[in-house]
Amino acid sequence: MKKHVLIIYTGGTIGMAKTSSGYAPQGKTFHDLLNMLPELQDPAMPSWDMVDMDPLLDSSNITVREWNTIGQMIADHYSQYDGFVILHGTDTMAYTASALSFMLRKNRKPVILTGSQIPLCELRNDARDNLVTALLIAANDAVHEVCLYFGGKLLRGNRTLKYSADDLVAFDSPNYPPLAEAGIHIRYHHKMLLPPVEGEFALQLLQNIPIGVIKVFPGIQFDLFQSIMTEKLKGIVIETFGAGNIPGYADALLPIIRKASENGTFIIVCSQCPHGTVALGAYETSSALKEAGAISGYDITTEAAVAKLYYLFSRGLSRDEIRIRMMRSIRGEMSTPDRAEI
Ligand code: ASP
Repeated sequence: MKKHVLIIYTGGTIGMAKTSSGYAPQGKTFHDLLNMLPELQDPAMPSWDMVDMDPLLDSSNITVREWNTIGQMIADHYSQYDGFVILHGTDTMAYTASALSFMLRKNRKPVILTGSQIPLCELRNDARDNLVTALLIAANDAVHEVCLYFGGKLLRGNRTLKYSADDLVAFDSPNYPPLAEAGIHIRYHHKMLLPPVEGEFALQLLQNIPIGVIKVFPGIQFDLFQSIMTEKLKGIVIETFGAGNIPGYADALLPIIRKASENGTFIIVCSQCPHGTVALGAYETSSALKEAGAISGYDITTEAAVAKLYYLFSRGLSRDEIRIRMMRSIRGEMSTPDRAEI
């Protein structure tokens, strides 16, 4: 039976055209171009419909509100379609993929984010292939999760990061292998894919929780961060050196982290290295972080850590529960030994 896929067009380079102030999303032109693409009418393609987010955005302008809008569009059409393709700008696609992976609870359908580095309206572009392949993947029974397809690779959405501003292979998933590779054929790596979950699909909308990201650098003056770290933020993702190390000079950071933890702020330790994992306690410079109450993010990306904090707070969980869940995989976003859906 022919599959039905819903394309949700949110904006981004894929559907942009030149305007007097540079590339900007152009809904009408994009719809016209898509309707003229013979590949999309090919009998081997799933049948598809497209709905637009209003307004269409450059993804730099995407916020929690748009994540909720996209999530709601999927939830409203969940039973009518076999899969979903989300056309999105590349700049924040990894964040949106991470957020949707958490928000779409008990999701069993393929939700594939894609976009392009060159708009479809240009002669040379990567939009056509990304869209065609994403549609085929969204119609495949093997995929039961939120993924990002780009430049020949299908990646777990909450493991991705954008690593190139101009390469046509712009995304990577440094701590988890590709779920599929599109060469002459689309080769699925079945062992890497999440199995279908039991239970009824539900959408968790997100609240705009105050969250911060701090990147440690040599010479950082921690005292400048004291008031936001201890008074304003509910969660802080701290990008540390290597396996979770912070500068120890002047004992400046630890009292702040201790105070933040006591005030109820969660401090999640990630690494500035895209590949590898945080191992709190491996070095003297990281042991103290643990003692001060910081939580190891292991090999989670900053993008997924931010999205997971939004999600867990929005679920209204107890503080203990949030702490436990931050250290454990809930959607395959980190390489902890077990995964427990929530
Ligand atoms: N600024 C664009 C966006 O993220 C870049 C892109 O789509 O590639 O919407």
